[in-house]
Amino acid sequence: MQNLPERSKKNRLLVPAAGWSHSGRETLREKNMSITGGCYCGAVRYEAEGDPIMKAQCHCRECQYFTGGQPNDFMAMPEAGFTYTKGAPKRFAKSDVANAATREFCPECGVHIVTRSQALPGAVILKVGSLDDPTVFQQPQMILQTADAQSFHHIPDGVPAFERFPT
Ligand SMILES: [Zn+2]
Repeated sequence: MQNLPERSKKNRLLVPAAGWSHSGRETLREKNMSITGGCYCGAVRYEAEGDPIMKAQCHCRECQYFTGGQPNDFMAMPEAGFTYTKGAPKRFAKSDVANAATREFCPECGVHIVTRSQALPGAVILKVGSLDDPTVFQQPQMILQTADAQSFHHIPDGVPAFERFPT
């Protein structure tokens, strides 16, 4: 019982970390968002409900393949609140990579919609380009994998940046 106040103080300090409100104008956390989205052709649609877990811009080499060369903006949402409402994605995980992420994409138009990764257990990683309203992303709260960034990538000022995935 004696440990409780100390622990809750610690948790409070952890919540605003990583730039949820780095501009000072944003709300600390969006609560209970309901997000819809899907692929380019409309064959695969989804709905995601809950609190966003992470909003990031990732520069890793893998993301460059999926975006066409640029970093990838993603929004991680709770897996429990995520459902496909139309169609079914094709899934791919690289077999020669340990703990490879599973990538889910439209079998018709090929657009990449969701990634599931052991780096973010319990989350679905939604690609911002697949959101019906990409403006809900606002801006990344952190920049990931800058070690893989190309010289033509833009890394915004004032956002915490990590050479790799922060642990
Ligand atoms: Zn499609």
